[in-house]
Amino acid sequence: MTVRVRFAPSPTGMFHVGGARSALQNWIYAKQQGGVFVLRIEDTDAARNKPEWTEGILSALDWIGISRGSYEGPHFQSENAGEHRAAAARLYESGRAYYCDCTREDVQARTGSQYQGYDGYHRDRGLGPGPGHALRFRTPDEGATVVVDLIRGEPTFENKLIEDFVIARGDGSPVFLLANVVDDMTMGITHVIRAEEHLPNTPKQQLLWDALGVKPPIWAHVPVVVNEKRQKLSKRRDKVALEAYREEGYLPGAMRNYLMLLGWAPSGDREIVPWSVIEEEFRLEEVNPSPAFFDEKKLRAFNGDYIRALPVDEFIDACQPWLTGTGTIAPPPWQPEEFDADAFAAVAPLAQTRITVLSEIVPNVDFLFLASPLIDEAAWAKTMKEGSAELLDDAVAAFEALESWDAESLKSTLEAVGAERGLKLGKTQAPVRVAVTGRTVGLPLFESLEVLGRERALTRMRAARLRLV
Ligand code: GLU
Repeated sequence: MTVRVRFAPSPTGMFHVGGARSALQNWIYAKQQGGVFVLRIEDTDAARNKPEWTEGILSALDWIGISRGSYEGPHFQSENAGEHRAAAARLYESGRAYYCDCTREDVQARTGSQYQGYDGYHRDRGLGPGPGHALRFRTPDEGATVVVDLIRGEPTFENKLIEDFVIARGDGSPVFLLANVVDDMTMGITHVIRAEEHLPNTPKQQLLWDALGVKPPIWAHVPVVVNEKRQKLSKRRDKVALEAYREEGYLPGAMRNYLMLLGWAPSGDREIVPWSVIEEEFRLEEVNPSPAFFDEKKLRAFNGDYIRALPVDEFIDACQPWLTGTGTIAPPPWQPEEFDADAFAAVAPLAQTRITVLSEIVPNVDFLFLASPLIDEAAWAKTMKEGSAELLDDAVAAFEALESWDAESLKSTLEAVGAERGLKLGKTQAPVRVAVTGRTVGLPLFESLEVLGRERALTRMRAARLRLV
């Protein structure tokens, strides 16, 4: 039997990190089993679907390493609508489903405070199809439905507690529960690996598999992803869109490594491991069923490690979208013609050890490409104190006299200027840094001055001095 798994997102919004995690787990499982990964876009909720969300899913998957052309699909649920209707008809004809025209209020009026879902009123009343008649599945009165789940063992559901649920609406359209089963069936899916949120649907869906006469798949419900308050990650409250992480400058390698740690860990005391190790060592059966904490701080630290591990030329390439403002990434504050690739290459190794997401490259290097620095006024006010004007005068004079404009000479020169005033280097540097870069923190000052060049550095220091009159 060839293993066939599927990832079945609904194109109703940005691509959720939890979805990316499930996709990767499906992807690895298929690879390990010599199986097939199928992408199915569940696009039957016409009111909420938008084609651009589908494109977003494809490009997010691509970014995370599940590249177009390397999987089966995308198939679209809407293309299978005829099969969904045919399955509903089969269930009706075989007596496994029946029509019902009760509203929720009708049922409540009958059951009062005992209300626990649908009461089976139409089970044996022989109502035929018609406008407003929903089709309900006749759940067994006895026995239990045992779900075989690779992560959760064998969750067992008493059939008598499962209400006769709707499988097609009053307008005849099949609901998600049924469409999802029929698609898995027609696509020959053997393993359904999906989020824990769907577990309550599973006994109902398994009953549908049984009623349609096909052996159900093996299930694996992967843990829900939660924030630091143990709340399910939600798009209203948390940063959940994979696209948002991409735009902030997370590396796909860091992201997918981190996502795979949600509920699982590689051997040894390791967290950052090559993807090949994850592909080899990951075991779906070992995934912890408890909610998995999505720790953005940890992810960020991870990303910093991944950035530092890049060869510098790859780091330079990886920064390009932020340096030029490509795609959906905001343009930098400088004009394209102001950008100087050589100057950037000179400071790139210094920046690489300092930033944790690639978008941070912009405030670190903007001073190099702008005609005058973007002055952070709060930093200015905090730094420019009594004596700063004179200090800048002395520094300008000393720098003007320098024969060689290199980091080492600049450092020893400024050190001497500070020493005359009994100041340590840190204190002496601060006004110079703000004058030249506009900020109190950034790349090492003397290397920055060297790359910026004598002319521009001195012009900025003089301009700052004038502001202090
Ligand atoms: N379309 C469903 C969702 O996005 C997936 C259902 C499933 O994986 O079975 O939640």
